[in-house]
Amino acid sequence: MIDCNVLIIGSGLAGLSAAVRLRELGVEDVVVIERMSGTQYEHYHRTCGEAISDKMICLSGIGRECAIREIDSAVITCGNVDIRVRSKGAIIDRVALLRAMSSKSGANIVRGSVRAVKETDGGYIVETEGQQYRCKFLVGADGAFSVVRKNLFGYGP
Ligand SMILES: Cc1cc2nc3c(=O)[nH]c(=O)nc-3n(C[C@H](O)[C@H](O)[C@H](O)COP(=O)(O)OP(=O)(O)OC[C@H]3O[C@@H](n4cnc5c(N)ncnc54)[C@H](O)[C@@H]3O)c2cc1C
Repeated sequence: MIDCNVLIIGSGLAGLSAAVRLRELGVEDVVVIERMSGTQYEHYHRTCGEAISDKMICLSGIGRECAIREIDSAVITCGNVDIRVRSKGAIIDRVALLRAMSSKSGANIVRGSVRAVKETDGGYIVETEGQQYRCKFLVGADGAFSVVRKNLFGYGP
């Protein structure tokens, strides 16, 4: 059993944003569990269009060094309909951004696929295929099919 203060499940934008913010706040003993590595991780995180508005870039503290090109609108296609959203921003290299956030966070990032999460007195127990973690605080940042959501909040939205 590995003990830690904060356990973050998922090292995508949400998980790493949380890790960076916790470091800025001086919170220690943060562990991030991520199921993917190498090219699989990079491929997964390249499916998005990566258009981020200037407002969001400013709010999130994302540096412009990860911007590939500037944009002044984005088009969202739903079936035959194109919706143009006029907003200044940038196309981001998400993998470069994730790498930068990962090193900025200083968190201990470990490989593992979370199978189950349960609440206990004063914290949570998290199980991966070969390890158990016990933490006081849990951040579920494991994407659209979140194990954290299913195990702690059920199958509703
Ligand atoms: C086609 C497409 C285009 C998009 N275009 C844009 C865009 O232009 N601009 C924009 O802002 N957003 C866009 N998005 C949305 C954006 O990609 C998501 O909002 C963002 O990825 C959500 O980040 P996240 O960290 O919450 O989840 P994710 O990016 O899904 O990260 C979750 C992480 O958790 C890990 N994980 C999951 N389950 C487990 C587990 N059981 N154990 C351990 N680790 C686990 C995953 O491997 C992953 O690394 C787009 C999305 C899609 C699908």
